[in-house]
Amino acid sequence: MGLNAIRERIAAAEAAAGRAPGSVQLIAVSKVQPPERVAAVLAEGHRLYGENYVQEAAGKWPAWRAEFPGVAVHMIGPLQTNKAKLAVELFEAIHTLDRPSLAVKLAGLAQARGACPDLFLQVNTGAEPQKAGILPEALDGFVKEVRGMDLPIAGLMCIPPESEDPAPHFAMLAGMAARNGLTGLSMGMSSDFEAAIAAGATHVRVGSAIFGAREYAAR
Ligand SMILES: *Cc1c(COP(=O)(O)O)cnc(C)c1O
Repeated sequence: MGLNAIRERIAAAEAAAGRAPGSVQLIAVSKVQPPERVAAVLAEGHRLYGENYVQEAAGKWPAWRAEFPGVAVHMIGPLQTNKAKLAVELFEAIHTLDRPSLAVKLAGLAQARGACPDLFLQVNTGAEPQKAGILPEALDGFVKEVRGMDLPIAGLMCIPPESEDPAPHFAMLAGMAARNGLTGLSMGMSSDFEAAIAAGATHVRVGSAIFGAREYAAR
């Protein structure tokens, strides 16, 4: 599809939902993509990217940051506690804070650095056993716990179950954010970002619709 087509669809979805133009940030998910595809989107002027793997991001973004001022990279994949230090050095935001032990680790790192990436709490809205994220019923307590550690919470993030209509999951996440006084909503991917925008998404994470299909075998 390409960057411009996605930008147009986001603008149309904002308008259809009666939302201000530019109220949704497009995170271009560049994980696993060949460098020339990412370089092309950088050259088109896009500056916000998403990555899933700390090591992969550490390898490719320092050079691009030097070449393209204003680049921001958000961590959207599961974060192991032993990679947290590298992650806070690499990313402007982490969308996958999903457990108290990781929050404790991040709080210690934030104290030492005097700075912390924006944090989104990942919610497992479908309560899927194989999926990361705090369970919906535990979310309010987790928000309090994280706030008690003096960590900044930018919002909530979810990945709805693949086989279900995502709309109820987006609505559930929006409701949980509202009742906790949180404004950021990281939700919506290539296949469902318009539904997410209708439900209030502030950050959509779109990969294959911008860059083309990921070819994992080529890694
Ligand atoms: C890979 C990934 C995306 C992007 O997926 P597409 O279907 O390619 O748009 C979005 N969010 C997360 C958490 C991902 O892991």
